[in-house]
Amino acid sequence: MASYETEHGIDRTEQSETRPRRPDLSSFFNHLSQITPDRPEERAREYALPVPGDVSAAFTSLAEAFQAIQRENEHADSDLLQNMIEALMSSAEQPPREVKGVEEEYIAELERVKIKTIKKDAECPICGNAFVDDPHPLVVRLPCHSSHLFDLECIRPWLLLNGTCPLDRKDLAQRERDRKKKLLEEIKKNSSPEDEEEEWDGLYG
Ligand SMILES: [Zn+2]
Ligand SMILES: [Zn+2]
Repeated sequence: MASYETEHGIDRTEQSETRPRRPDLSSFFNHLSQITPDRPEERAREYALPVPGDVSAAFTSLAEAFQAIQRENEHADSDLLQNMIEALMSSAEQPPREVKGVEEEYIAELERVKIKTIKKDAECPICGNAFVDDPHPLVVRLPCHSSHLFDLECIRPWLLLNGTCPLDRKDLAQRERDRKKKLLEEIKKNSSPEDEEEEWDGLYG
């Protein structure tokens, strides 16, 4: 009797046992936590800049995690992944003064895509695995394009550090910062009795 897998053309040769589907990101998240402390009182410190060494370590450890996928996963042979690794390495060499990634909150709010709506041969651009092969798929769509789908676990660490879509390089973090800024300005404007003056002083001053 044909199994569900063969009938549906799904190859479940237990990839997860032979090679990791996902990068091991424990060291990356360790380093990242050095940069963005969870304690709000530290985050609120106005001129607290991250230590360049910590920033560098976060970029390096993500590059290493991606290299591990590249090595151990035969599907992960894309130029895209290679470019992402190179970008991470060069950021590690010259760490930015601050990490311009998105917030966890932004990632939590990304559109989740139902696996049933995804084509069978569609694969995550980062790890190269077909989404349908994942026994527990968690797929997100980036707002830049309806076809820009990723495993949440693959795109999350990248977005936290870079804030850009790897496919079209749209700066989602910048967009989000602009959106919040605009929102704040509108709130300010609406609460001010002298709207017009405020606008000149506030926006262009
Ligand atoms: Zn993936
Ligand atoms: Zn995109």
